Amino acid sequence: MPYQVVVGLEVHVELKTKTKLFCQCANAFGSEPNTHTCPVCLAMPGALPVLNQAAVELAVKAGIALQCTIHCHSKFDRKQYFYPDLPKAYQISQYDLPFAEWGHVNIVADGQRKQVRIRRIHMEEDAGKLNHLGQSLEQSEGSLVDLNRAGVPLIEIVSEPDMTSADEARRYLTELRAVLSYLDVSDLRMEEGSMRCDANVSLKPEDYTGSLEDLPRVEVKNVNSIRNVGRAIEYEIERQSERLAQGQRIIKETRGFDDARGRTYSQRSKEEANDYRYFPEPDLPPLVLDSSWLARLQAALPMLPDAWRERLESLGLSANEIEVLVQDPSQIQFLQEAMEMTTEVRALTRWMLADMLRLLNERGLSFAQSPVRPAQLVELLNFIADGRISGRMAKEILENMFVSGESAGQLVDRLGMAQISDDAVLRGQVAEVIAEHGKVVDDYHSGKERALGFLVGQVMKRTRGQASPEVVNRLLKEALGSSVS
Ligand SMILES: [Zn+2]
Repeated sequence: MPYQVVVGLEVHVELKTKTKLFCQCANAFGSEPNTHTCPVCLAMPGALPVLNQAAVELAVKAGIALQCTIHCHSKFDRKQYFYPDLPKAYQISQYDLPFAEWGHVNIVADGQRKQVRIRRIHMEEDAGKLNHLGQSLEQSEGSLVDLNRAGVPLIEIVSEPDMTSADEARRYLTELRAVLSYLDVSDLRMEEGSMRCDANVSLKPEDYTGSLEDLPRVEVKNVNSIRNVGRAIEYEIERQSERLAQGQRIIKETRGFDDARGRTYSQRSKEEANDYRYFPEPDLPPLVLDSSWLARLQAALPMLPDAWRERLESLGLSANEIEVLVQDPSQIQFLQEAMEMTTEVRALTRWMLADMLRLLNERGLSFAQSPVRPAQLVELLNFIADGRISGRMAKEILENMFVSGESAGQLVDRLGMAQISDDAVLRGQVAEVIAEHGKVVDDYHSGKERALGFLVGQVMKRTRGQASPEVVNRLLKEALGSSVS
């Protein structure tokens, strides 16, 4: 029986605050275990949480950028479960009144624009981390608890089950990450766990008329890269369709993803919301947002990927160039600064995406860390536009700029790379080349167009590549034309 794939994603994003959500401990990755803890995040009796305003601000920014309705009244709830990494035995989260709902992310799937709806975004605190001793959990001799991460602010972004393939899920995550990266609200490092994804996958029989919520759903937890989310979904589609083909039922459960084997594996049967016995957090007042504060936040948002796509399209860039540029806000920032100094946007983006990107990649740097700043690249491009240097020389100069930190102007002088476009200087060279290559000149006159290219090459060689090829071309044609008898 044919099935339709139904995928919904839950994405946890750690917010980039200085301190945790409800205490003043540092929000820092990679420190010695249990060095960022206090009575609040260790759940000492009587310790009370105090909400971090900076976390609320980052969360709300994300909600606005993801086109959500922001609720000025929301509240926190206790989600109860027992696990060794959760010292309070409950997590402070938001249950029935999240701060943001009804947003969306635009993706392009199979060449078509598609909207993936966001059901809700809520704030919550992270749990600690268990470090298992030994090679694997099965053979582990013990587990140690590190509570540095306990209480770190998170937002959970819950999509509607609008995606119908692994590819759409990858595209949704890529775009979600791009939007959030423009806001600078999180490190968004999936491998370090500052962005984590759970994928809900189910198969809907074509004749099914019930609600998607009632389909037996498998949740694949904590997949650590966008690529692996795609692999996990592909594996689940295959596994579930095989079971259904054999007449077996799909069990509603939580599964893990084994990266090395590319397979999901059963972890536990899935909890329902009522298993968590949610109730309102009595130690925190309701969260009330001021509408003028919201308006200020909205007004201060940077231009987001979709707006940049439109702008770059209007400047004549290709769809491919645009996609490569918008994925990384440091590229867009670089481009934006450079665009304030030049109108040659096509040349600018060509140089950014080819030579600049190559030189940066070789050094493992981003555009934000580039030793060549926008003003310096624009200076170099202006030299090409003026005819002072050729494109080939510019490549060499740019490489030198990366190494020595000198400006294009300094390098043109030091390397003696100025282009020769003076007719008087080049005419002599042209005459000598013609005199030396009588046979080639004859070929040219008998209609062999390629002979001209050879002669241009000879002049370029004599001038160590400094002659302007356009000028040499013109002078050669003039000289050869007049020599026809
Ligand atoms: Zn603390």
